[in-house]
Amino acid sequence: MELTPTEIERYQRQIMLPGLGEEGQKKLKSTTALVTGVGGLGGTVALYLAVAGIGKLILVRGGNLRLDDMNRQILMTDDWVGKPRVLKAKETLSKINPDVQIEAIPEYVTPDNVDILVRGADIAIDCAFNFEERDLLNEACVRWDKPMVEAAMNEMEAYLTTIIPGKTPCLSCIFPEKPEWDRWGFGVLGAVSGTLATLAALEVIKVITGLGQPLYGKLLTMELGSLHFAKHRPYHDPNCPICSKITQQKINQTLNLVNTKTNLSISV
Ligand SMILES: [Zn+2]
Repeated sequence: MELTPTEIERYQRQIMLPGLGEEGQKKLKSTTALVTGVGGLGGTVALYLAVAGIGKLILVRGGNLRLDDMNRQILMTDDWVGKPRVLKAKETLSKINPDVQIEAIPEYVTPDNVDILVRGADIAIDCAFNFEERDLLNEACVRWDKPMVEAAMNEMEAYLTTIIPGKTPCLSCIFPEKPEWDRWGFGVLGAVSGTLATLAALEVIKVITGLGQPLYGKLLTMELGSLHFAKHRPYHDPNCPICSKITQQKINQTLNLVNTKTNLSISV
């Protein structure tokens, strides 16, 4: 997908980056990213993907804006309290970068809509506020073989990883037992959700363009009170109820490919 003169000018400072270039910019333009949970976290992810020149954003978030969202939801304005968040997110982002296509879906992620949402995207960013939606998205990304950037936080702690189905641990491998998460039960500071969100957006840009080194098979943990950052290698469960099947399928496919190429008979 070619870039227009306006796009080349708009993104000039990032096109200059070694490892990104015009090819990387074209890849961004060709990409549709699904952001679930467009709040303090997802809204800021969407902002940085929009200014970076992602081709299309699908924004999914049910419910209306509350006054107590305003300490972190930077795409919102005070006069929008009581109205659907994603519609305002689309309006704000369109003003910042009119070249980005934006589909705003004022719904939560459910078993009924998750497959359509994931199939329509090249990459998903999981910013939902509960594990029900996170698990649904993880399962659908594994099912449709789509990369998923997983960003989660609790008070001053934040977690980030990138899941490539069949290659890295999935969300179910990393968190086989779900933490007790109360939707309204933890404190959150906008600068903390924003820090995690910018790193998550950077992760998406890396996956798409090949810039730098994404967190494949690595879990970044951050404690922002003490500014302690660490990378861990989470366990890839060979018997994971969600991703073990696709892992085996990929191994079989690879073996079949080798088999075809070499005409060797390999029994799997
Ligand atoms: Zn798994």
